[in-house]
Amino acid sequence: MAKRLLRSLTPDDLRGRRVLVRADLNVPLDGSSVTDDTRIRASVPTLDFLTGAGARVILMSHLGRPKGSPDPAFSLAPVATRLAELVAAPVRFVGDTVGQEARDASEALQDGEILLLENTRFLSGETTDDPDLAGALAGLGSLYVNDAFGTAHRAHASTAGVAQAVRAAGGMAVAGFLLEKELTFLGEALADPERPFVAILGGAKISGKIDVVEALLPRVDRLLVGGAMANTFFLALGLDVGKSLVEEDRVEMARELMDRAGDRLLLPVDCRVSDRIAPDARVRTVARDGVTGDDLIGDIGPETEGIYREVIRGARTVLWNGPMGVFEMEPFAHGTLSLARAVAEATDDGAVSVLGGGDSAAAAEAAEVAERLSHVSTGGGASLEFLAGAELPGVAALSDLEAE
Ligand code: ADP
Ligand code: MG
Repeated sequence: MAKRLLRSLTPDDLRGRRVLVRADLNVPLDGSSVTDDTRIRASVPTLDFLTGAGARVILMSHLGRPKGSPDPAFSLAPVATRLAELVAAPVRFVGDTVGQEARDASEALQDGEILLLENTRFLSGETTDDPDLAGALAGLGSLYVNDAFGTAHRAHASTAGVAQAVRAAGGMAVAGFLLEKELTFLGEALADPERPFVAILGGAKISGKIDVVEALLPRVDRLLVGGAMANTFFLALGLDVGKSLVEEDRVEMARELMDRAGDRLLLPVDCRVSDRIAPDARVRTVARDGVTGDDLIGDIGPETEGIYREVIRGARTVLWNGPMGVFEMEPFAHGTLSLARAVAEATDDGAVSVLGGGDSAAAAEAAEVAERLSHVSTGGGASLEFLAGAELPGVAALSDLEAE
């Protein structure tokens, strides 16, 4: 069901209103400095829109995995400092989430100001979607904006419970700009892709992605498989994979998938192997039936790169999840970087490209093509669950377009 969008609200709806925003500000920290502010920057359009309209923004997020109680190492204070440099509005921070201090600070907010609350995971009710906590959060605002795609697949008090509580109190719960963009790109890629529709799947394991494969299989024109995931398919073909990473218990599943997919599923024809996976490994290229003994497959080979690149260049829609090799190490990065460039080139030629997965996003950054892709999802697990067809609790809890 389509959801209400922040985009559809007018300045008159927002001026002077206390708006509770759930963003995904879960950024890496080194002590008290933010080492990668991508997620903070991704939240800016929603915050600028709200403060520009004169709303009083009460902002919340989780950070890291504190154990349901305050832990200074996971304070959002450094995030407030960085956020203040990125938005025009004044940013205040309070070291409390739903207590008296937080309520007082939210009461003191002026039009066009932002108050960042302390880490929602300092509270034990967050991850259990405790109704009391959700109600206390809902008490801070009369409009709820969810912009945290990265946690939308979790039913937490600050994602699902609060949306229900705000609506129960007569308010509205809407999707912010980032959440809207994620749902649009990921949703359209699945629902109505322009063809040829090519999916690239890689990464370490099939097991974590089987639902994605199942959801994509009936829709794609080509499914390009790489990464360690391909090794399990090699076993299903009766090939020797040496000492490579495999999932023995998924061989039967791989065989069954190959049967169903027929010639739409492509596997690597050659591989880059070594006797160890290390930054200074010495790499050989072998045909896929030439892997033996102590070989470890660390990347797809050059011939595979050529075949895959050509398929990608002919696509009108490309969906990519999972690197083709151990791209974190230079000797095994070639396949992933080469395909990343092919996806960017296809996008330059007018294809729609959507990339999901945390490591895949890092690979696109490493290949310096992230900006050229149509959409790089900010949610790792959430994008996978969405692509697999699951309903995300943080989205399901928002107001329906028709109803309100
Ligand atoms: P994403 O985060 O994009 O969903 P995954 O987490 O599924 O991707 O997989 C990424 C990981 O898979 C990377 O750490 C990479 O090193 C690993 N990987 C890819 N190919 C291989 C391989 N052939 N052998 C071992 N690990 C691999
Ligand atoms: Mg990953």
